[in-house]
Amino acid sequence: MSIFAVLGNPVAHSRSPQIHQAFAAQHGQKLIYERRLIALDDFAAQAREFFKAGGTGANVTVPFKHEAYILADVLTERAKAAKAVNTLFWRNGQLLGDNTDGIGLVRAIEELLSFSLSNKHILLLGAGGAACGVIQPLLQQLPASLTIANRSAEKAQLLAQEHNVNWCAVTQIKPEYDVIINATAGSLHGQKLPVSVPVLARAQLVYDMMYSAKLTPFLLQAHEAGCRHLVDGLGMLVAQAAASYALWHGFNPDIRPVTEQIRKEMERS
Ligand code: NDP
Repeated sequence: MSIFAVLGNPVAHSRSPQIHQAFAAQHGQKLIYERRLIALDDFAAQAREFFKAGGTGANVTVPFKHEAYILADVLTERAKAAKAVNTLFWRNGQLLGDNTDGIGLVRAIEELLSFSLSNKHILLLGAGGAACGVIQPLLQQLPASLTIANRSAEKAQLLAQEHNVNWCAVTQIKPEYDVIINATAGSLHGQKLPVSVPVLARAQLVYDMMYSAKLTPFLLQAHEAGCRHLVDGLGMLVAQAAASYALWHGFNPDIRPVTEQIRKEMERS
């Protein structure tokens, strides 16, 4: 049986094993999918060890996406654009690095929410690994504009220049965005962001990449500002996993029933 794993630290909370087993059930396949806690200072050696011992593919999560990018022998175009790898695949004697976060986000918004990003003014909050990974896939949807804002403004500026999009200081965001995507770790740390009420109230959709059984701090902030279309990142998590699954197995899973299943599991636990 093929062996897969999610490599991270921490990793005990990861829903990837349930998601990949649900995809395998749709596909009529059996596979082993484990959680591997990787020592913070030993990613490259432990990841190589996993593949040497017969691993076929791995998802890479916090904080190793950049190290996985360095480790891969070959990179897909989207991994190069993101400068981060969340999917590793041992293929033809080489370690292929891919990044499926961006197409996962886009699929979650367009397919699960039936929401078109085309011609929308999009605000992307954050300039870390997750933000980097979603810029090109968002631009491929032909939005009217894409603006990056980040706590460290110089990082937003650099990223925006690299991708030829707009940027602004997080405290100076104008109320002119249809879609707001939170790619900061603010919600993870239980913190609200300095985004004003008019900015949040005007948005048709506020999407927080973090997911949780209850409203994330940023979604709660948007709710209090009057925005009513609030979505967390569970659909993105399932859709990025589906793209990894498709790469490894050549089968594109149906993400809706799996997202619903994981949501129910989350609410029960
Ligand atoms: P990084 O550590 O690479 O980047 C963190 C970003 O968040 C930086 O822009 C940082 O700003 C900002 N930030 C951190 N703390 C705060 C705060 N208290 N207030 C405001 N800004 C803050 O993390 P990632 O990019 O990998 O992940 C970001 C989020 O996206 C996480 O919540 C993660 O769980 C989520 N995620 C979800 C996925 C999914 O499938 N649903 C996939 C990938 C990520 P600065 O530059 O100033 O430090």
